Amino acid sequence: MGLVTAYFLRKSGADVCVIDRQDSAARETSFANGGMLHASQASPWNAPGILWTALRMLGREDSALLIRKHALPRMLRWGFGFVRNSNPERFAANIERNTRLAQYSLSVMGELRASETLDYDYSPRGTLTIFRGQRELDAAGNLSTQFAGGDLRFELIDQAGAVALEPALAPIADKIVGAMYYPSDESGDAFKFCQALQRVCEREGVEFQFGVRVNKLVREGGVIGSADTDSRRFRADKFVLAAGSFTPLLSRTAGLRVPVQPVKGYSLTAPMGHWAEPPTMPVIDEQLHAAVCPLGDRLRVAGTAEFTGYNSVLTKSRIDNLFKLLLSMYPEFEPHLDQATTDRWTGLRPVTPAGVGIMGKTDIANLYLNTGHGHLGWTMAAGAGKAVAMEILETESEFDLSNYRLAKA
Ligand SMILES: Cc1cc2nc3c(=O)[nH]c(=O)nc-3n(C[C@H](O)[C@H](O)[C@H](O)COP(=O)(O)OP(=O)(O)OC[C@H]3O[C@@H](n4cnc5c(N)ncnc54)[C@H](O)[C@@H]3O)c2cc1C
Repeated sequence: MGLVTAYFLRKSGADVCVIDRQDSAARETSFANGGMLHASQASPWNAPGILWTALRMLGREDSALLIRKHALPRMLRWGFGFVRNSNPERFAANIERNTRLAQYSLSVMGELRASETLDYDYSPRGTLTIFRGQRELDAAGNLSTQFAGGDLRFELIDQAGAVALEPALAPIADKIVGAMYYPSDESGDAFKFCQALQRVCEREGVEFQFGVRVNKLVREGGVIGSADTDSRRFRADKFVLAAGSFTPLLSRTAGLRVPVQPVKGYSLTAPMGHWAEPPTMPVIDEQLHAAVCPLGDRLRVAGTAEFTGYNSVLTKSRIDNLFKLLLSMYPEFEPHLDQATTDRWTGLRPVTPAGVGIMGKTDIANLYLNTGHGHLGWTMAAGAGKAVAMEILETESEFDLSNYRLAKA
């Protein structure tokens, strides 16, 4: 979020300094995510009925959604908002907001690819969601029909159609009742994208302060006067806070409450080795709550949502579970899967109660936000970054942010 915002600010002539505590861009949640720009499936997680789903999964170590008891006290207020947003009207309005931003974002991605050299294992093959139950397939079909329009194209296909699109699914064909194919979705490696964009930004004159942790945003009257680190005070006319899951920790130093919870997820990235007919497109398995995405000569599987506060420990049971999910989708990968060279990773998704990102102006005149894009941050980054940059520059924007701002306290 921060990097794309910086890019568009600089392109319009602003002097930009990016401060990041890591040693380069995308070393935290944008490092090894699922890789999919699934603009056609931009639903928040809190669909109607989420409360019962969450209660059913409570305490189950292998469940897709895991809420650790110790995290509960700090998420009560947020959790109440999360459940409140799962009523059918709010859920529909939130999908609509996400879909609009996601589609705008894909168009900005196209713009970026056209104007810069960005090598990131990009694939325009779309995404395929497979279903192992008829009820779930029907529900997904209804949802997509409801939100179809504009560039949102989808095809409801049968088992044979799914295997024709992704032949590597043949061994589990008898388990699939049908699939949804979203041809306009894309995929790519977010880390590679950010590294390439960082180089472009450096060339364009963005100043990067890496390895620098901001401790505090200091208010001076009605504005932010500086971003303070242990040893330095960074002054600026305007500030953009895009610290992912850590945004609320910084915003509260300036007296601003931003409702974002860290929701832990995991991924594995495995070399495809000598597998003769590997997967060629991203596939989401609805029932297993896992997504497998080819990235060049690697295969990434991502999934699980764990409410456990700011905890980045690689829990063995969750990793083992991801290996299991990967092989349940692609059993033929087993002889080629080398666990020793498979990268294991965990990241904290910044999730809001509405499941929609928070962007743009705040009550503090020179402070802007770009955060809370949850499980859709890679999809939203290009559009969100450009829209926020345009607002900061007070230029007429192609995208109206008024529906995405931080709600008044
Ligand atoms: C397992 C998993 C799978 C996912 N799959 C997908 C997917 O397929 N498609 C999709 O669209 N999205 C996906 N996402 C979501 C997506 O990865 C995130 O929404 C996105 O990376 C968030 O980007 P961000 O810029 O907000 O946060 P980050 O990438 O975390 O960036 C925040 C930056 O702020 C810096 N920072 C934080 N605090 C400070 C401080 N005090 N001082 C200085 N610097 C600071 C950090 O170093 C970091 O560089 C997935 C996420 C996970 C965990």
